[in-house]
Amino acid sequence: LAADLGVSRVTVGTAYAELESAGLVVAAVGSGTRVAPVLPTTAVGAAPGDRRGGTWPAWQGSAETSEPAEAGPRGPDVVAFTGVGDPAAYPVAEFGRTIRQVLAREGAAALSYGPDPAGDPSLRRTVTQLLASQGIGVPPESVLITSGSQQALALVCQVLVRPGDTVLVEEPTYDLALRLLRAAGAQLVGVPVDGHGLRVDVLAELLERHRLLDRPRPRLLYVVPNFQNPTGASLSGSRRHALLELARVHGVPVFEDDFAGDLRYSGRATPAIKSLDDGGHVLYAGTFSKLLMPGLRIGYLVVDGPVRQRLVEAKQVTDLGTSLLLQRALDRFVTVGRYQTNLRRTGRLYRERRDALRSALAEHLPDAGFALPAGGLFAWVALPAGVRSDTLLRAARDRGVDVAPGSRFFLRPEDGAGHIRLNFAVQPQERIAAGVVRLAAAVDSLRVT
Ligand code: PMP
Repeated sequence: LAADLGVSRVTVGTAYAELESAGLVVAAVGSGTRVAPVLPTTAVGAAPGDRRGGTWPAWQGSAETSEPAEAGPRGPDVVAFTGVGDPAAYPVAEFGRTIRQVLAREGAAALSYGPDPAGDPSLRRTVTQLLASQGIGVPPESVLITSGSQQALALVCQVLVRPGDTVLVEEPTYDLALRLLRAAGAQLVGVPVDGHGLRVDVLAELLERHRLLDRPRPRLLYVVPNFQNPTGASLSGSRRHALLELARVHGVPVFEDDFAGDLRYSGRATPAIKSLDDGGHVLYAGTFSKLLMPGLRIGYLVVDGPVRQRLVEAKQVTDLGTSLLLQRALDRFVTVGRYQTNLRRTGRLYRERRDALRSALAEHLPDAGFALPAGGLFAWVALPAGVRSDTLLRAARDRGVDVAPGSRFFLRPEDGAGHIRLNFAVQPQERIAAGVVRLAAAVDSLRVT
């Protein structure tokens, strides 16, 4: 049957196993597989609303909080200024070779759980070498390997944040951090961002007010200091010093999310806040998602002090450790220098795309506000007066171009009505101008004349 249908035996076998475990078929030795005489009341894959024969138990709650996927139109003719990096830049063949080399050298050992839930010791050492080039000098014991930096933040929420705690965030900021912190029950308080990153003067006033009113101190400050998502802004050196001082004085831990710190296209690197921290005030998260590929799901958290062991414990009980095979392959990819070559190649590619976006915006949307980001993936565009990002999103999608509306990145969506975020790294250079021409047409259709 498998051969006749042109599908593999594995696919057919898996399908039968799923049907059997759902009680839809019964298998009997010698007489093959038949449809079950009495079908169960819940069909495989049924949506909650479709449930036959009863309602869901109370612990399931309702699905009200789950937002629809943010996917816009897709297809060869769509210019999507959304997503992460460009899959065409992923080192598919080289990484495949690396995985085969690891399996040939290490065999079954690379397919085990691994000796330490905090991560493969060799990869942790390698991460400290990468961090040393950023001015962060820490021992491998301070590094906890996580499933992407998203898990690093999730673990910190699990260990530090209790429902009702105040957490300070930049505004605007990375939307899935907002959703994660909200899911942990945090009360979010926004601190504005300008062209030089988080407004540390506003943060100082806010913390002082908290202190004077004798409010419980905020449990965390979440900050993206390099090429921030969504604004592309980088926190200035003097603000980094001031921010750390405030964290120290007010006893507020800082979560420094450096999701794309090595993707710099112009200007000089500013030291990480963690590199200035000698008192254990900063939890620093990095990731290989933007610098290499997101499907690896490998990131890390640098953390010192007593909280470290609680985070390792949380990591262990959550998933028993990140895939050892992928950790071993990544370690080899970095230590033989393939990672660095790939990073240089990706950096060149994305810089050209950033510059192409700048020229296209200057030519086709000259009255939109735009500050050139020094690195990363994102450009933040202030729309011409009277044009709202939610209506623009629809008009843009109708014309085959996709963008992220600013509303997604604010505590009150309305505050983002005047902005959109463009990811310039995803599209080949020659399609960027075409995308901006379509975007400009969408903006023109909404201008108030
Ligand atoms: N931080 C920021 C600012 C991000 O934009 C993202 C993903 N886009 C992440 C963290 C999480 O990425 P990952 O879990 O893949 O490391």
